[in-house]
Amino acid sequence: MNLLSRHYHQLVGLNEDWVIADVQLDVRNKTLTLPLEFVGDHVVCPECGAACSMKDHSTERSWRHLDAMQFQTILTARVPRCSCETCGVKTIAVPWADKHSRFTLLFEAFAIDVLQASQSIQSAALLLGIDWSTAQAIMKRAVGRGLERRSLDKVRHVGIDEKSFGKGQDYVSVMTDIDQSRVLEVTPDRTTESADELWKTLSRKQRRKVKAVCMDMWQAYETSTETNAPNALIVHDRFHIAKYLNEAVDKVRSAEHRELQQTGDDRLKGMRQTLLFNPENLSDEKNDEIAALRRSTLATGRAWSIKEMFRFFWQELDAVGGRAFFDSWYAWAIRSRLTPIKKVARMLKNRLDRILTWFSAPISNGPAEGFNSRIQSIKSAARGFRIFEHYRIRILFFCGKLALKPGENQPQKTQKNRDKSHLRR
Ligand SMILES: [Zn+2]
Repeated sequence: MNLLSRHYHQLVGLNEDWVIADVQLDVRNKTLTLPLEFVGDHVVCPECGAACSMKDHSTERSWRHLDAMQFQTILTARVPRCSCETCGVKTIAVPWADKHSRFTLLFEAFAIDVLQASQSIQSAALLLGIDWSTAQAIMKRAVGRGLERRSLDKVRHVGIDEKSFGKGQDYVSVMTDIDQSRVLEVTPDRTTESADELWKTLSRKQRRKVKAVCMDMWQAYETSTETNAPNALIVHDRFHIAKYLNEAVDKVRSAEHRELQQTGDDRLKGMRQTLLFNPENLSDEKNDEIAALRRSTLATGRAWSIKEMFRFFWQELDAVGGRAFFDSWYAWAIRSRLTPIKKVARMLKNRLDRILTWFSAPISNGPAEGFNSRIQSIKSAARGFRIFEHYRIRILFFCGKLALKPGENQPQKTQKNRDKSHLRR
């Protein structure tokens, strides 16, 4: 190798088995091609690791590498094929790329960084000089890598929640690890089968260690969890409960607003958003509006007070206090003569045992976990998804906290590590 070849040899990070045979600069197309040659004196089988004899070379392949200055850099090579006594004729593994990748490990790692930092896949693809489907393929491979390496032994508190998908009434089900704030899996639809699929993410042993599962009051998820994680407490999510109460208040408001408007009374105009917020997050002016509403005889004011009162439920010290609080709240709600409020109150009463579990396991799928908004922005950036698998990959790529990059180790699948993890237990 001459000086320039040696320079690139170091830049690409090749070992002594490979040399750079040439440096081909194409100034017009702004590409730099580096043909590599195998000069090693022995080869090993990529499947079993046995030393073998070299058979021949594969046809020429190429890999995109990190750009050198503004030049797209391409490595090319005819990779040796070995003939293994056990596995047959195999193309040997190359140190710079994964098995089927058209990119070097360093390029993929860089692309993953760019994709994670970018607002949209389109802008990342543009920066990297790759097309959309290539970006998708890099993410898919990265997620595959991450899932392989992921450890699930410490999962104790799980969330199961639905997310909308596409533009219509399609849903996906999402399982999260609440303690580690990461998404574990995504499955289509929101049926019992969807949840069963989610539970398959964890081994039988890991499922037995799950202490509590947070979810909406949704029968399909409950049924599946009873079967798959019989030891786990089911905790109905407080943010979903707050949402039902908010919706009930809004139903009362919109019906009453319509009625009032017929007599030219505009008191409830523009109140919709105000009633959704917690008072501590509202301006003084908006709080004055709410105070006026409460002093009035309007049904909306009553509905709002009942909703607001329920927030104190979560501040009770234990399930005994919670039950006592609920009973008196329920009596008030059921006497309110407000159909939407009564409906929610009855629903909560029916599920009370699995709401009181909050006092043993105060977990939620709420906004504090961060991935709700992230998933929402993933969907918005793509203007909805038509293909489920793309949505799944995107959610796991951004919210799975996975070790995505090639070379990022923790290979848990090896026998050595399995043995070690036994020792720890
Ligand atoms: Zn072999």
